[in-house]
Amino acid sequence: LGFGGVCQDLGKIRVFCRIRPFNKSEVARGSQCVVSHPDEYTITVESSRGLKEFQFDRVFSSTSSQENVFEDTSRLIQSAVDGYNVCIFAYGQTGSGKTFTMIGDKQQEAPGVVPRAFKQIFQIMEENKGRFSFKVSAYMLEMYNERLLDLFVAPSESLSKKLEVRKDKNGLVYVQGAETREVTSAEELFLMFQQGCTNRHIASTRMNAESSRSHFIIAIILESTNLTNGTVSYGKLSLVDLAGSERAAKTGATDEQLKEANSINKSLSALGDVISALSNEQPFVPYRNNKLTMLMQDSLGGNAKTLMFVNISPAEWNAEETVASLIYATRVK
Ligand code: ADP
Ligand code: MG
Repeated sequence: LGFGGVCQDLGKIRVFCRIRPFNKSEVARGSQCVVSHPDEYTITVESSRGLKEFQFDRVFSSTSSQENVFEDTSRLIQSAVDGYNVCIFAYGQTGSGKTFTMIGDKQQEAPGVVPRAFKQIFQIMEENKGRFSFKVSAYMLEMYNERLLDLFVAPSESLSKKLEVRKDKNGLVYVQGAETREVTSAEELFLMFQQGCTNRHIASTRMNAESSRSHFIIAIILESTNLTNGTVSYGKLSLVDLAGSERAAKTGATDEQLKEANSINKSLSALGDVISALSNEQPFVPYRNNKLTMLMQDSLGGNAKTLMFVNISPAEWNAEETVASLIYATRVK
């Protein structure tokens, strides 16, 4: 739509680090803080590997609000309406604040990126409705053990369907067999999203799985028609809450837990490989190595704008996982 700052982010991957606050039980235990951030771009962690320092595009402290975080994110929502493919995803160990950042708290007293993006999309469209007509549709999926589930249909149905990742004539990824639903307001989109979350909960109970062990993705497809000259453009916003990145405890893990951990491991390292190939401008990007990267393919690199959140815990007992997450995130820059 010709708003500012159009090309500067193309193909680039930005990384924002967010430190979650201590939770009640950590406070009660007198947990030590091992992270500090001397400025808005730097974070240091004290672990058994010594004191390590990392640089990111932004570091949000444990007192940063959802508004603060979204302020720096909202430009990308604009880009998706402008016709770019945008991907925003959260990486980190379970309990580090990925879901809080992407979705918000359960009561939605502190809504995260997803509900805020919904509102912003429709707000931008409202402001431009004299010059453009818009069509918005969405699909919502979960990936558990290499298996894709459609969250827009009842679990009894989605558990028996087989979904395949494909590309359409415009190079946009779509998922064959998954419902893509058209929506006309932020409220309608949010209701569908909530129904999808309920479906996800029911499906994981049936599969005897936890939602922190699966990847979650909602993709919003934005079609805009310029009313003056009839030009149509397509943007896509993919919002992803990844499965927890922690290593499975080797002792006492069941076969099922090991299979889960293995699958998460494979998909997260495939994602790391793709992003690192993109940031190092390597000619070959191994998208096809995993279902997760195939699914995110149209929203990573090339014509896309990507934002990764690396969510971390401040606590001493998480220090090793924190360092591992920050190393992963640094590889991506
Ligand atoms: P993850 O999705 O990475 O497993 P969650 O987002 O569920 O982690 O966060 C774990 C807990 O910490 C939740 O109760 C969540 O509400 C809380 N939490 C995480 N980040 C923040 C934050 N920035 N401010 C307040 N509470 C947070
Ligand atoms: Mg979560």
